[in-house]
Amino acid sequence: MNEIAALLKTAQTIAVLPHTSPDADTLGSCFALAYALGKQGKSTMVYTDEAIPEYLSFLDGKYEIFAGEAPVYDVCLCLDCGDMERLGGRAAVFAAAAYTINIDHHYTNTNFADYNLVEPLASSTGEICYRLLQYIGAEIDTYIASCLYAALSGDTGGFRYSNTSASSLRTAADLMEHGIDAWEINRLLFGTEDIAALRFKGSLSQRIQVLEGGLVAVVTVDAASLAESGLASDQLENIVDIPRQVRGAEVAVSFKESDGEVKVSLRSNAYIDVGDIAVRLGGGGHKRAAGLTVKAGLELAQELVLGALSEAFSTHRNTQKE
Ligand code: 5GP
Ligand code: MN
Repeated sequence: MNEIAALLKTAQTIAVLPHTSPDADTLGSCFALAYALGKQGKSTMVYTDEAIPEYLSFLDGKYEIFAGEAPVYDVCLCLDCGDMERLGGRAAVFAAAAYTINIDHHYTNTNFADYNLVEPLASSTGEICYRLLQYIGAEIDTYIASCLYAALSGDTGGFRYSNTSASSLRTAADLMEHGIDAWEINRLLFGTEDIAALRFKGSLSQRIQVLEGGLVAVVTVDAASLAESGLASDQLENIVDIPRQVRGAEVAVSFKESDGEVKVSLRSNAYIDVGDIAVRLGGGGHKRAAGLTVKAGLELAQELVLGALSEAFSTHRNTQKE
């Protein structure tokens, strides 16, 4: 943190990169840091690969969708990105920068930058960013606090998941002292949905499949039904939360096919390390929440992921017998 603080102090221009398919943690962290460093006189810009999903538009940060030739920055700061793949087309911005920094909380992180601050025990990248801002003496205003609160709340599922620690609750409490509207942030993150998406999710509930004698619950959205629904892929977020509610399931999986690839989300409750499974299939994440993108059709994606899961369950059963 000391070296990163020193580097940020000397840098004049800073590019800030969230991961592809951005969520509240990555965007909240990026907007908070870009804005705070901007207030310290730095020239900062957040670059994304894609438009920001509607449900996160309230974060209201300045950003550009990267296209064309890579601009050259003193520092490229990657937030919540487990590996270089997560930079998508912006790998060019990363490559062009004089120095690179990687701040993240995924234990699967590949330490791909010049400076790597990876804390797997942190609830969120937002939590690490809050400490960094304190460390460099940045003033936390209502905007920064709102972005960081959204980051923490997003990654902890509203402070419900196993990554919710006493320290993350203390950080959230600190952030609440800065005049933020926590209730509204949580409503926008978890309690508001486009009517078309809500209806479509209702139909997904009816199509939950269970495997492994009830230990695995799955929902699948194929490209044809997504197209038929009229929804863009990023309007259908967090569908893995639907099978996750099945009583008795250890693992929940969602498959979402669009543009010739399949986005897979994995969640577990107690003993299956889904981060490990995701890494082996080219993705990453945490023990209890992970994901990957399979650049192939639905059938192959399901074969790969469900096969790996079935193996993980049989390994678990065998180690229990011993
Ligand atoms: P989600 O299923 O919500 O997209 O992601 C769950 C967790 O896994 C998040 O922490 C996310 O950053 C991580 N994750 C999702 N997809 C990928 C991927 O393709 N590569 C890596 N390294 N991590 C991923
Ligand atoms: Mn995160």
